[in-house]
Amino acid sequence: MFNEESHLAAPIRWGMVGGGRGSEIGYAHRASAARDRFFALTAGAFDLDAARGREFGRDLGLDPERCYADYQSLFAQEAQRDDGIQAVSIATPNSTHYAISKAALEAGLHVICEKPLTFTCAEAQELADLAKARHKLFAVMYGYSGFPMLHQARAMIEQGLLGDIRIVTMQFAHGFHSAPIEEHSPGAKWRMNPAISGPTYVLGDLGTHTYYLMEMLTGLEVDELCCMRQSFIQSRAPLEDNAHVMFKFKTGAVGTLWASSVNAGSMHQQKIRVIGSKASIEWWDEHPNQLRYEIQGQPAQLLDRGMPYLLKNDAICSRIGGGHAEGFFEAWANLYHRFAMAIDAFERADQAMLDTLWYPDVQAGMNGVRWLEACVESADQGAKWVKF
Ligand code: NAD
Repeated sequence: MFNEESHLAAPIRWGMVGGGRGSEIGYAHRASAARDRFFALTAGAFDLDAARGREFGRDLGLDPERCYADYQSLFAQEAQRDDGIQAVSIATPNSTHYAISKAALEAGLHVICEKPLTFTCAEAQELADLAKARHKLFAVMYGYSGFPMLHQARAMIEQGLLGDIRIVTMQFAHGFHSAPIEEHSPGAKWRMNPAISGPTYVLGDLGTHTYYLMEMLTGLEVDELCCMRQSFIQSRAPLEDNAHVMFKFKTGAVGTLWASSVNAGSMHQQKIRVIGSKASIEWWDEHPNQLRYEIQGQPAQLLDRGMPYLLKNDAICSRIGGGHAEGFFEAWANLYHRFAMAIDAFERADQAMLDTLWYPDVQAGMNGVRWLEACVESADQGAKWVKF
């Protein structure tokens, strides 16, 4: 079980771009990075509004001089300091990820960026190449992948408990945008604006998460896909508030993914079901401490986090015994823990350690963007099957 004796020689000096007052996801980054005391928030450019960003940083207890007006000043001025930041998290709307990530890498920082990583695959590739050339961590915040029961699911698939994987069904379909709330919600409004959101709305905002879970659990690679998308609230066009994707994987397995923000009455409904020749597993993000395990011909089992019968009880993912409910912040903290270990290994040029560390990396971010490009290509041709 994880205990707080594990620590780095000194916490990683860490900054943030975005995630300012009123943002949806800024607090989740700060709370999760702080959990194991591996990161110390020391600087930031938290807001598009420079004065509000500075005030916010000061309210977080930062030195006001290290609360910058924009990311360019943050990177340039921190680079001049002996105690400047070593890593940065980018929690700004999608259109800015590429430019800010590139500037951060060029400034010699390790980067943790929000999803979807970029608008195009070419941009994502450029970031991947730059991170490699500079020997920096580049992680993408596919936060759900930090839930321990997904690591159990991955181990079960790896060990063949399901048999040959035949079908994967995925969905992330909430109902919060069943009405045009973007008229009053800035956070919803930018998500439906292609200039800020990118070429997709629900596919990028929601679907990339579940698509990544499929990759992480099964390792399946897409051969062809077919995507249908539409906006039930007409003013959201050309971006979709609902989409269905069908997959043919290279192994012969098949799958589907439903992404929606107009699933009226639903809270999240992010689910992934992996069906093999012997058994199936199913995980639902609203009950993340459990994993359904169904062996053909036997009663269904509900596996619980933290129990000795699990295959996967690694130290990073074990914070409290079974029966105690863990949630979103622990999942994110599990990822930030890994990011810290990886940053430390990068700084020490410890390739052997890096080889043992799993985390959602820039390749995972790029795969998500590539998937989005293929979905748009298919949908724009009237739901044509396209080669991946
Ligand atoms: P938001 O609109 O609620 O907040 C964005 C914040 O970034 C605001 O504080 C804004 O002032 C600031 N900002 C914008 N441009 C900036 C710039 N150039 N420099 C500095 N600050 C800037 O957005 P959000 O919902 O928090 O989403 C931010 C990102 O996080 C998006 O890419 C989104 O897809 C992603 N997100 C991920 C998850 C997840 O589970 N991983 C959940 C929600 C959002």
